[in-house]
Amino acid sequence: MSRRMVLSAAFVASVVASTVSPARAQGELTVYCTVQEEWCRPMMAAFERATGINVAMTRRSSGETLTQIRAERQNPRGDVWWGGTGDPHLQAGEEGLTEEYRSPNLALLHPWAVQQAEQSGFRTVGIYAGALGYSYNTRELERRRIEAPRCWADLLKPAFRGEVQVADPNTSGTSYTMLATLVQLMGEEPAFTFLKGLHANINQYTRSGAAPARAAATGESLVGITFLHDAVTQKVGGAPVTIVAPCEGTGYEIGSMSIIKGARNLENARRFFDWALTAEAQEIGAQARSYQLPSNREAKIPAEAPRFEDVKLIAYDFVKYGSAAERNRILQRWDREVRAAQR
Ligand code: PLP
Repeated sequence: MSRRMVLSAAFVASVVASTVSPARAQGELTVYCTVQEEWCRPMMAAFERATGINVAMTRRSSGETLTQIRAERQNPRGDVWWGGTGDPHLQAGEEGLTEEYRSPNLALLHPWAVQQAEQSGFRTVGIYAGALGYSYNTRELERRRIEAPRCWADLLKPAFRGEVQVADPNTSGTSYTMLATLVQLMGEEPAFTFLKGLHANINQYTRSGAAPARAAATGESLVGITFLHDAVTQKVGGAPVTIVAPCEGTGYEIGSMSIIKGARNLENARRFFDWALTAEAQEIGAQARSYQLPSNREAKIPAEAPRFEDVKLIAYDFVKYGSAAERNRILQRWDREVRAAQR
């Protein structure tokens, strides 16, 4: 082989290597992830393995992510918003912050997930569902000889003064789900009376929705209001918690996914969207100890997942409580009348 041929063979080999190098060949994707970090990471790694696309991921709560996407609207930095409660995804759709996309994989989903897509003009889609409730530290409760709570109303008792934790509904989709749930369950005036009473018993409004389940697990807070599946994660990890689906009834979330308007990597965003609706991708949740109900009909429901059949569920009005006007209005009322109240 002549020297020239060796050189050109080496050149061809290096060109081939750079073309087949998956990351370079397939490009980039920026995902705003709103589930727990423990689930975000394996999900992104699995997508990278499946496609060779390089994912840059950041994790924030639902309300915080909506605020960020809105702030970046003139110069969008994210491509996909994956996870988090459905109401802010619906609001983002209404505000024109997300792209319409009709994935061929919508055909694989439960009707409640497709309905979320239809109601948003195909700007979002349901990826999982879960009911709201609370958990308490069984050991601490027994030690302090407090009667076990079963209902929302029980959380107002003086025994729970400074012993209940929930997130701030401005940053957290979980907590906004609680706010909208109580308004639908009780009527708006009684709900705000309840929330003001609850305020006296709150030790901290956290930024992230699932944090109160961790606080109840360690006993740092006696009670944590979260989605039931967040409390299951703690229980499966060995924490001494009892999980309560409140006796009066409760609301639920349709965890959602949207493509951000002006996405720089639109084709890759659509690939992620399609892939995230597959059974294989949705089963990563349970492997990461996240026990929501998956939206893909073929995805295995984790044995630990709280079932809707066992919970008294309200008919949560996603169209109304995911609308910009209603969401902004009740959040502002909560800031004015609850957050700002003396304790
Ligand atoms: N993490 C999990 C496991 C969830 O189910 C949800 C709800 O969609 C969230 C996080 C959303 O969190 P936040 O309430 O902080 O917006």
